[in-house]
Amino acid sequence: MNYFIPDMYQKSIYHIDYDKLRDDGIQCLLFDLDNTCVPYKDNIPNKKLEDLFETLKDMDFKLIIFSNASRRRIKPFKDVLNVDSLAKAGKPRKKSFLKILKLFNYDLSEVAIVGDQLYKDILGGNRVGIKTILVNPMSNDDMILTKIIFRPLEKIKYRSFSRKKILIKGKYYD
Ligand SMILES: [Mg+2]
Repeated sequence: MNYFIPDMYQKSIYHIDYDKLRDDGIQCLLFDLDNTCVPYKDNIPNKKLEDLFETLKDMDFKLIIFSNASRRRIKPFKDVLNVDSLAKAGKPRKKSFLKILKLFNYDLSEVAIVGDQLYKDILGGNRVGIKTILVNPMSNDDMILTKIIFRPLEKIKYRSFSRKKILIKGKYYD
C-alpha cells in the first residue's frame, strides 16, 4: 500500500458524502484546520463552517480539530465550533493519532482524518490505519515550512500519481 494515497478525495469538506462515511462505520472525524476548514489566513470560523459542524454533530459524529498548529491558533475555532481539539499534533507521526483513539476509545475503523496535505494528513492517517480523506487546499498560503518543503514534494508526488492515473487533481472519488 502507498501511504500517500487517500481513501477518498473530494473538492472540499463541503463535498464529502458524510452519509456514506456513517454507513461505513465512521464515528469520529479528525479535521485538519489550515486550508482544510478555513484558508490559512483566516483567524475565526465562518458561518458556513459553523453550519457544517452543526449538521455533522446532529449526525452524531464526534468532531475533533486535529492540527499541527499552535494552541493559540486553534482556540477560537475550538471555542466557537464547540469541539475537542488537539494542537501541535505532529502529523504525520502516529503518536497523536493513537492518543486520540485511546482517549475517546475508538477503533481504527471508526475514525477518519480529513486534510489537505499528502505529507501530513494523508501520510499520518494511513500510517496509523484510519480512513484518509484528501481535500483541495482552500488557499495558496501556507506555513513557511509547508510552502518551501512539503508543497514542492507534494507536487512531485502528484505528478507521479497522475502519470500512473492513481490520483489526479480534480478527479474526485469516494
Ligand atoms: Mg492543512
